[in-house]
Amino acid sequence: MLEKQLRNHPKMEKWRKDIFKRYNFSCDVCGSRGYLEAHHIRLFTDILNEFKKLNQGKTDEEIYRLALKYEPLWDSKNGICLCKNCHKITKITNIGKQITEKVRIVNITKAVIRDALTNKIKRIYITQNTIQLAGRNVVARRLANETTYTGILNYGVLLTSGPTETYRKLTASATYDDDVAKAYITWFFTATEVSGTFVQWRNYIDGTATSGSGQEWSRVDVNWAKSTSETLTVDCVYQITSG
Ligand SMILES: [Zn+2]
Repeated sequence: MLEKQLRNHPKMEKWRKDIFKRYNFSCDVCGSRGYLEAHHIRLFTDILNEFKKLNQGKTDEEIYRLALKYEPLWDSKNGICLCKNCHKITKITNIGKQITEKVRIVNITKAVIRDALTNKIKRIYITQNTIQLAGRNVVARRLANETTYTGILNYGVLLTSGPTETYRKLTASATYDDDVAKAYITWFFTATEVSGTFVQWRNYIDGTATSGSGQEWSRVDVNWAKSTSETLTVDCVYQITSG
């Protein structure tokens, strides 16, 4: 009841509109400009449940009033713009592992599995996590204009249960937008180069082809399945926030 009331509040409409605008009214996965939906990266239900726990003993009415002022529920950075189709695929495949600690650097990892022959999207996994201490240190040095620092985020690593490093690969592309403190990094895995069920995804700075090398920047628990007839694209967006 409470959740429904909140979801129907005009603040939710604003949340949605802010996201559409930020993604320039196109689907973040396939680029479609058709019917669009805003997807919660960290589930609204989870955030609300956590908030309810913090406010145990209060009436629903009080919680409703307080929830309207509870920033994480209305944070447009926790949203991604998807078309109806991609949203549906995401809902089916997301495991919804969520991180509750307060973050300063947010990493949104988006994995898209496509059929290698038809290129049709089969599964989409969207996960949000925080950046490891080592990664935060790197960003701090960059922001302090430390010109001697030349580290580069280069390797993406797939881990199978253990977690055990199984496959590492250089980035396919990396772009940085200093104005909005955002970085976009992409990795691409062909159909035949690797397959399996992966439980973790890690990024490394100054890595080499050797297993375990480099400085860990980001780590996220995932549940990605990939066969040898599917390709995998992993897009990571790193956003530095003041929160
Ligand atoms: Zn789409």
